[in-house]
Amino acid sequence: MALTKLSLEEWLAAAAEQSVSFADFCVELQSREMERSSEDVIAKMEAMLAVMEQSIADGLKGLRSKGGLVGGDGQRLQQCLMGSKQNLLGNFAGKAVTYALAVGEANAAMGRIVAAPTAGSSGVLPAVLFTLKEEYGFQSRELAKGLIVAGVIGMVIASRASLSGAAGGCQAECGSAGAMAAGVMVVLLGGTPEQVGHAVAITLKNMLGLVCDPVAGLVEVPCVKRNAGAVAQALVGAQMALAGIKSVIPVDEVIDAMDSIGNSMHCSLKETAQGGLAITPTALELTEKIFEKNI
Ligand code: SF4
Repeated sequence: MALTKLSLEEWLAAAAEQSVSFADFCVELQSREMERSSEDVIAKMEAMLAVMEQSIADGLKGLRSKGGLVGGDGQRLQQCLMGSKQNLLGNFAGKAVTYALAVGEANAAMGRIVAAPTAGSSGVLPAVLFTLKEEYGFQSRELAKGLIVAGVIGMVIASRASLSGAAGGCQAECGSAGAMAAGVMVVLLGGTPEQVGHAVAITLKNMLGLVCDPVAGLVEVPCVKRNAGAVAQALVGAQMALAGIKSVIPVDEVIDAMDSIGNSMHCSLKETAQGGLAITPTALELTEKIFEKNI
């Protein structure tokens, strides 16, 4: 059964009309939805943040994945950026991309992560939230509210399109995670509800069409590095929105476009490992080796 389509534009406009921050608007909304007090909802998110923080630390230990295709890159990037003249990303982006790789690797190694919105895209939100904490000094309560905002954005995307690679391609997983993270950054850095909408729209637009083509059907390659790419897109989208740059296409319409693109995408490009990177000669060779090893 199709979900009722929610509208991010309507909620953003309501927050602006009521002159409340979008974070407080979302806390109230989730509290009503979950029939729990605001304090309970925030406490639940704080518990999730603790898991996210641990998943960053776990990933930075250089864990290898079960399939053996990924591991150690978060650690590698962290070491490269320390005092290096080759730091192209700067402190904030460098740290965020490092953390995204770390959580992606922790997930691939079967570590404990928060699927936000999915396991495959679980590196994006922790990366942004904990970089905001470390670089701007946000407290866990503020981060928890940020996570609630991310959940609200995710709810809208799920209702109008999908959050699943199998249904909509990687645009729906890493694209949605990036859009959620962009919205969170704008909220926490004091942007207006309108700017939140533009950040989500710009980020999602820049990830439209991204296919889901995991090598050997494992959430390893290209998934881990796509989390890093989604963080970069989120930073670009949030920064543009904070500068007052607008998305010409309104956010709900961008989400609808993602749905229509996902529906047009061939099934070989939706988590079946039958197309894209998954059927390159190297991927096929790796797939054979992984399956031989596991027989
Ligand atoms: S490629 Fe597919 S499995 Fe990997 S993160 Fe993207 S949607 Fe998930």
